[in-house]
Amino acid sequence: MKVLVVNCGSSSLKYQVLEMDNSTLLAKGLVERIGLDGSVMKHEKIGMDKYIVEAPMKNHKDAIGYVLKALTDKEHGVVSSMDEISAVGHRVVHAGEKYAGSVLITEDVMNALEECIDLAPLHNPPNILGIRACQELMPNTPMVGVFDTAFHQTMKPETFLYAIPYEYYEKYKIRKYGFHGTSHKYVSMRAAALLDKDIKDLKIVTCHLGNGASCAAVKHGVCIDTSMGFTPLDGLIMGTRSGGIDPAVITFISEKEGITADEVINILNKKSGVAGISGVSSDFRDLAEAEAQGNERAALALKMFAWRVKYYIGAYMAEMNGADAIVFTAGIGENDIDMRKQICSDLDGLGIELDEEKNNVRGEERIVSKDSSKVKILVIPTNEELMIAQDTVEIVSNL
Ligand code: ADP
Repeated sequence: MKVLVVNCGSSSLKYQVLEMDNSTLLAKGLVERIGLDGSVMKHEKIGMDKYIVEAPMKNHKDAIGYVLKALTDKEHGVVSSMDEISAVGHRVVHAGEKYAGSVLITEDVMNALEECIDLAPLHNPPNILGIRACQELMPNTPMVGVFDTAFHQTMKPETFLYAIPYEYYEKYKIRKYGFHGTSHKYVSMRAAALLDKDIKDLKIVTCHLGNGASCAAVKHGVCIDTSMGFTPLDGLIMGTRSGGIDPAVITFISEKEGITADEVINILNKKSGVAGISGVSSDFRDLAEAEAQGNERAALALKMFAWRVKYYIGAYMAEMNGADAIVFTAGIGENDIDMRKQICSDLDGLGIELDEEKNNVRGEERIVSKDSSKVKILVIPTNEELMIAQDTVEIVSNL
């Protein structure tokens, strides 16, 4: 069964076609500058050179039109007609409290996603546009929605509520939602497979450390807590996001700097994190280089990042009464050998012992803890597209 996976941003669209009979990637690509001058599609049939199409694409429907043409192209395509695509899996950021898992997209689902626009004003509108465009161009193909928030819907009220007047939860649904759910779910399942254990017998702390970063506590296959909150601003220190801070800082900066609360939030999202502390970059490779050249603020930013991850590992081990495994994933988690070392240093009191030699790995699945380590440490490259495709197959197979 072939599945198309679509991930729409406001002016971009990423896609993959996977053959799910043997979980192989057939083609992938990226469309950029949708609705802007200089729209371009970069398509790649696996094993072949990139096929680049520059053409005006005024909206997501135009972009998907070009994607479908590329997928059926004689030379660069992977299917002879779109009828060979059995289903489309769409990444959608926010499903609010409505869905705790992936669902077949119906008009009811579309209405629910529209209702969540308030909660994810930057992400849900392009996600919705992408689904509508696919529905128009592939009217007979089932579509599945896979939500970033869904995996975290198993959190209990004592975990997901903020201690503010309850009526704000009732009126506006203000609560912790959590994001990166597809990634946390995927790597926790892979961890169980690598450890050759049933996920129902495991307590896992998953650390998705990319530009955006979050940790999750996955107890017996179910998420019980995660570090992002009402929005992706909360929790860990990130590339340009502050992570959790005392909210009183917002009004204080606003008054001192004569800027609005919105502007402060923008600073917390775009000019803070390791970029804000170091004044160097949000990219951990740049920070490591600056640190090596003696830049103290770059070193401080890296220390702060590691400290905050450690803090969540400790918190989640307390919440789960221990852990069997800690998983590192995403750009930093998969590739940054030194950062994994910093995070795992001095945790032997919690039974966490990194093996420095095994830790010498980038971008491949591996157990990197010492044999004596009570808590196993794993590096697992995330694969959100595969997870989306797997959920999609599961749902359309039951139709
Ligand atoms: P996102 O998907 O959130 O944009 P990624 O998961 O792709 O982010 O992670 C991107 C980050 O990963 C980069 O900003 C960089 O800091 C980090 N990264 C990627 N490769 C390396 C590497 N080899 N060493 C250290 N950090 C890396």
